Amino acid sequence: MLALALLLTGSITIAIFYIVRVNRGLFRDITELKKSEQREQSRNHVLQLLAHGAPLPTILEAIVRGVEQEYPAMFCSILLLDNEGRHLLTGAAPSLPDFYNDAINGLEIGIGAGSCGTAAFTGQRVIVEDTQTHPYWEPYKNLSSKAKLGACWSEPIRSATGKVLGTFAIYHREAQLPTEAEIRLIEQTSNLAEIAIGRCRADQALKEGEKLLSDILENVTAYIYMKDTQSRYLFANRLLREQFDAPMEEIVGYDDHKFFDAETADNMRKDDLRVLQDGETIQIEETNPNILTGVTNVFLSVKLPLRREDGSIYALCGISTDITERKEIEEHMRHMAQYDGLTHLPNRALFNDRLQQALVAAQRNQERLALMFLDLDKFKPVNDTYGHGVGDLLLKEVAQRMQDCLRESDTAARIGGDEFVVLLPAIETEQDAGIVGGKILHALNQPFELAGHRLNISSSIGVAVYPEHGSSEKQLVKSADIAMYHAKKNGRNNVKIYQHGMQEIS
Ligand code: GH3
Ligand code: MG
Repeated sequence: MLALALLLTGSITIAIFYIVRVNRGLFRDITELKKSEQREQSRNHVLQLLAHGAPLPTILEAIVRGVEQEYPAMFCSILLLDNEGRHLLTGAAPSLPDFYNDAINGLEIGIGAGSCGTAAFTGQRVIVEDTQTHPYWEPYKNLSSKAKLGACWSEPIRSATGKVLGTFAIYHREAQLPTEAEIRLIEQTSNLAEIAIGRCRADQALKEGEKLLSDILENVTAYIYMKDTQSRYLFANRLLREQFDAPMEEIVGYDDHKFFDAETADNMRKDDLRVLQDGETIQIEETNPNILTGVTNVFLSVKLPLRREDGSIYALCGISTDITERKEIEEHMRHMAQYDGLTHLPNRALFNDRLQQALVAAQRNQERLALMFLDLDKFKPVNDTYGHGVGDLLLKEVAQRMQDCLRESDTAARIGGDEFVVLLPAIETEQDAGIVGGKILHALNQPFELAGHRLNISSSIGVAVYPEHGSSEKQLVKSADIAMYHAKKNGRNNVKIYQHGMQEIS
C-alpha cells in the first residue's frame, strides 16, 4: 500500500515536474516571440520615421525607447560625435536623468572618458561591468553613483566608411556583463542608429546643397532658365521672372512667344533647336525687345544641352547676362575713338579708313575722287578776342555748315585744331571738286552769330583729285596739303586745286 502510495506520489511529482518544465519552456518561448515581435515593431517604427523624413532626435529617441521597451531593466543612450570629432553630444537618452545627460553632453573623447568617450575614441566596443570600480569611470564615479548606474556597455556607431559617428550605450542599475544576445542587441541597435544618422546627414547635405544652388540661382545677376525639348520653360530664376513680370507658374509650360514678339521668339527657338536637336553648346548675343516692357536689351547667352545618363538630351539650360550697358559703353568708346568730341565729325583715324576704302573702290571702278584740305584763316585771333569757348562754338558751327554743303556719301572730318578734310568719293571732274570747295568757302564766309557776338571767318581750301594728283593715299594727302598752303599763300579765303609742279611750302 505504502509502495503504491509512494509510486503514485512519485509519478505525480514527476508529472508536475514535467508540466512545470514544459510550461516554463513554453513561457520562455512566448516571451522570446513577444520580444522579437516587439523588436520588429520598433524597428519598423524607426524605418517609417526615416522614410517620412522625421528629425534625427525623434528617430534616435524611437530607437532608444524601442530597446528600453523590450528590456525594461536597461537604460540606453545615443551620443553623437561633434563636427570636430572631439566631443560627444546628447543624441537621445530619454530615460537617463537630466543632470547626468547635462554632465555628459560635450564630453571630450579619449581613453578613460567613461565607456562612451573611450569607445568613440578607440572605435572599439567598451564593456564596463561596474562603473564604480572600472578605471575608465574613475572621473565619473560619483556621477554614475548619483544616477544609480552600475554597468555601462558602449558600442561605437560607425559609418559605412568606418568613421565614428557616435556611440550607443546600454546601462544597468546593477553591475553586470552582457550576454551574447545582449552583445548582438548592442551591435544591431548601433547599426540601426548608423542608418538613421547616415540618412539624416545625407538628407541634410542634400537640403543644404539644394539651398545653396537655389540661393545662387535666385540671387545671381544672370537670367537662368531651363527649357524642355519643345523649347517650353521648365524653370526661370528670380531675375528672369522679374523680367517677364510673371510668377513661375505663368512661365513654366510656355515658350518664348508669350514673352517676345514673333520674330524674336522664332529666332530664339532656332537657337534652342541647335542645342536641343544637334547637342551644340552655343554662345550668342541676343537683342531682345520685351513684349511687356517694350525695352530692348542685349544679352550674352550661353545655352547648353542637359543630358540623361544614356546621353539623350532632355532639356537645355540657358544663362543670359544683360550686356546692354556694356554695349552702350563699348559703343560710346568706339565713337570716342572715331569721332571728334567737339564737332562730332569723324576724326583722323576714321577718315583715313574711309579714304582707304574710297581709294580701293575708285581704283576698282576707275572713278575719280577728291580730297579737300581746309584750314580756317586767322582763327587764333578769334580765340584771343572772344575766348576759347567762342572759338569752340565757331568750330562746331563751321563743321555744321561744311556738312550742309555735302552729300550723304561725302565725309567731312576734323583732323586738328582748325583743320578739316573732306572726301568726295565719286566726282566726275576736277571742277566738280572745285565747285564743292567754292560752296564751302561761301558758306563759311557768311557771318556767325555766336554767344551774342557776330563774327566772320574765312578758310583756305586745297583740293587733290585721284588719279590725277596722286594714286596713293599718301600722295593724295600730300597734294591736297600743298594745294591748301598755296591757297593760304595766295591771300587766304580761296580754293586751290593741286597742279603738277606746285612746290611744297614749309
Ligand atoms: P592761319 O590763317 O595761318 O591758319 O592762322 P591761324 O590763326 O588759323 O593759325 P593756325 O591755323 O596755325 O592756328 C590754329 C589755332 O587753332 C591754334 C589754336 O590756338 C587753335 N585751336 C586748336 N584747337 C582748338 C580747339 O579745340 N578750340 C579752339 N577754340 N581753338 C583751337
Ligand atoms: Mg588756321
